[in-house]
Amino acid sequence: MKYVSTRGKAPDLNFEQAMLTGLARDGGLYVPEKYPTLSTEKIASFSTKSYEEVAFEIMKPFVGDTFTDNEFKKIIKLAYAGFSHRAKCPIVQLSENHFLLELFHGPTLAFKDVAMQLIGQMFEVALKRRGEKVTIVGATSGDTGSAAMEAFKGLDSVNLFIMYPHGRVSEVQRRQMTTPNESNVHALAVDGDFDTCQALLKDMFNDFDFRDEVKLAGVNSINWARVLAQVVYYFTSAVAIGAPNRKVSFTVPTGNFGDIFAGYVAKKMGLPIERLIIATNQNDILHRTLKTGNHTKSGVKPSISPSMDIQVSSNFERLVFDLYKRDGAKVIELFDALKNDGSFTLSDEAIKLLNDEFDSGCCSDSETSEAIKKYFDNMGEVLCPHSAIGVNVAESQISQIPMITLATAHPAKFPDAVANACGITPDLPSHMADLYERNERMTRVSGDLKALEAIIRKGIK
Ligand SMILES: *Cc1c(COP(=O)(O)O)cnc(C)c1O
Repeated sequence: MKYVSTRGKAPDLNFEQAMLTGLARDGGLYVPEKYPTLSTEKIASFSTKSYEEVAFEIMKPFVGDTFTDNEFKKIIKLAYAGFSHRAKCPIVQLSENHFLLELFHGPTLAFKDVAMQLIGQMFEVALKRRGEKVTIVGATSGDTGSAAMEAFKGLDSVNLFIMYPHGRVSEVQRRQMTTPNESNVHALAVDGDFDTCQALLKDMFNDFDFRDEVKLAGVNSINWARVLAQVVYYFTSAVAIGAPNRKVSFTVPTGNFGDIFAGYVAKKMGLPIERLIIATNQNDILHRTLKTGNHTKSGVKPSISPSMDIQVSSNFERLVFDLYKRDGAKVIELFDALKNDGSFTLSDEAIKLLNDEFDSGCCSDSETSEAIKKYFDNMGEVLCPHSAIGVNVAESQISQIPMITLATAHPAKFPDAVANACGITPDLPSHMADLYERNERMTRVSGDLKALEAIIRKGIK
């Protein structure tokens, strides 16, 4: 399988290269040259297979010969060994036609573990074989960073630096990033919001001297391997409730558009998905884009669902590439306008294609709190604020077609928002019960690229 850049000006890569590179050198994102399709019989056969077996079959065509079959099976097994639920990503029924897909049974209690645990193992095997060492720098609104710390800590072939917006992540998220002892992982508290962190990261990738000097690699949701790992649970959950014989829809709490893009890929591969519904908080740029075709940044407004406090949804570029029939020049034009003028407007045809695939809804903080309270009062289900946004938006869209809403984090990761909404303070699972007693370690950084690069240079071991 070959990977091409959404901006059409970087060399095509194989899976291993695309995984280790992250952002393409022309500023674009890597996508497969084409999507493999699975037959109905193949999809039906998943109903008797384990999560790991399905993961292997779905990802294998994308991974190509980067790993032998045995190697890849071992990687998958190790990746999901730390999940606390036997099904890995189980579903719970909320009402007759509404299901919750629980993606928070990994080590850091958010869906980011599903991809990050796999990427950690894949990097380790690929880098050991190449005899190389890389520097991974990531930007996080909270959950990616903790998942990456957990997945990469202690690995010989990786130095990891995670930037998060100072004061804008939950205490559990911060502590998950600042408490690992391993000397190859570093938490960087940036003065600014998530978009500041993400812009710094992009600029760092575009500083080719630095990029080559430290062998920069990325594991943000722009990394294709992460999107790929997330395609798997669309299949397992849909099959569990009757696909491919019946259609399903998905509602996805969305920030960077990585998770829902994985749903789009599943559909392209032949999973019979009726609708893909984007659920946002008050940072509703995607919701507005669907309604008006106008993709306009407005400042990030902090919410009680901080992992979705994002205005520049980086993976949206992958979709725009498809909306414009894979015309890289058009993508450059639009995303240059977004960078320089803060907005672009989609063509009428692109708006139509977008609305053919997706619907959207958004939720204020008070609606989110009400949804948490309602589900707790009515059925004892404690939702994290992100999952509550999904459930609330899904409710307004439920039809005859069964709906699966993605529960993206465990409620204990956002205890204050949950307690304020429904009076319950969810307990942390036992493996992190002493999180509040552990020592914290982090470096404060300004929004200055050169200063940041100096800190990274110094921290590499
Ligand atoms: C990252 C995250 C999201 C948003 O996912 P995207 O792939 O960025 O759209 C939603 N909820 C939680 C809990 C998250 O950690």
